Amino acid sequence: MTTEIDRSTIFAAGALEHFRAARRIEPRCMRRFRHMYLQRHRSFEESANELPERDRQAFLHRFQPHQPIVAAQSDSQLNGASKLALSTERGDVVESVLLRTPGTRTTLCVSSQVGCAARCEFCATGYLSPVKNLSTVDILNQADVARRIAHREGLRIRNLVFMGMGEPFHNESAVCDAMRLLQDPGWFAFGPRRTMVSTVGVPDAMVRWAVEFPKSPLALSLHSADQELREKLIPAAKRTSLVELREAMDEVVRLQDNAPIMIEYLMLRDVNDSLAQAAQLADYLDGLPALVNLIPYNPIAEAPHFQSTDRDGRERFGAALQERGFLVKIRFSLGADIDAACGQLAARTRE
Ligand code: SF4
Repeated sequence: MTTEIDRSTIFAAGALEHFRAARRIEPRCMRRFRHMYLQRHRSFEESANELPERDRQAFLHRFQPHQPIVAAQSDSQLNGASKLALSTERGDVVESVLLRTPGTRTTLCVSSQVGCAARCEFCATGYLSPVKNLSTVDILNQADVARRIAHREGLRIRNLVFMGMGEPFHNESAVCDAMRLLQDPGWFAFGPRRTMVSTVGVPDAMVRWAVEFPKSPLALSLHSADQELREKLIPAAKRTSLVELREAMDEVVRLQDNAPIMIEYLMLRDVNDSLAQAAQLADYLDGLPALVNLIPYNPIAEAPHFQSTDRDGRERFGAALQERGFLVKIRFSLGADIDAACGQLAARTRE
């Protein structure tokens, strides 16, 4: 079911100007504004009305709220996933996914691009063209919209992951700018350990991430420890050897105080799921503190030749890795009925 979101609630652009504007506006007023906007979940205009008239005019003039033209929410009938479609500053449509699981583990999966130059064979986003970077505002809008939806349901988003559309390190500066405000205690206040970026592997950017965000986990979408197969699954992998990736991972782990790095491994039947390939993966990761996530393949129209490894196959593969001392999680996907599961985001709505 798709419903339109209340457009008047959508705003994040002001956060970007906070630091400049704050120099001209009394800290006490800014605190009041932030309290209304972030803690009380008031609209931007209502929050700005809390400022004295002189400051309010300057504030409204500088902050220029961006109103997305498209704002729609599709709710899964199977589980606690909602897909949110928002228009960007340039008028494109980008999707993010709100994942509600029992307890307090509400997670938001955000996008960094429309389309993706990594062009993974199994991912709907990789077939979109042309690829466009999102602005920092576009990224923050996703968090802002989802935060308000969760608030109305009495929930709080605990985890935010860059696992939606796009390769975050192909849009590194906007993603890092957004991350600073997402983690800023005066703004979105996400805990550093609860904000994660997932990449197909851009070694220099991975190391820069670990330098700036030493507590924020990094996930590497590996999918194969065989260079040739990996390049087939992820065409962008032609630019980076597995040796370079391993060196970058070692450096990330060192910079992040030996915290485990996440390894994402999509399980494709008869492609990368044999026990020999599990042994090859274990050899490649040997000596690295790693948590390996085994992910089911979610079908997309563009790649009908792929099938997911079944649960037994995933468990056998996982057990082989555990025997070699790795932490393993067998993942499941939410939101497949609304094309919101891993690899299915392509800014289109299922009828
Ligand atoms: S899986 Fe991720 S990196 Fe690969 S094409 Fe899709 S969005 Fe890009």
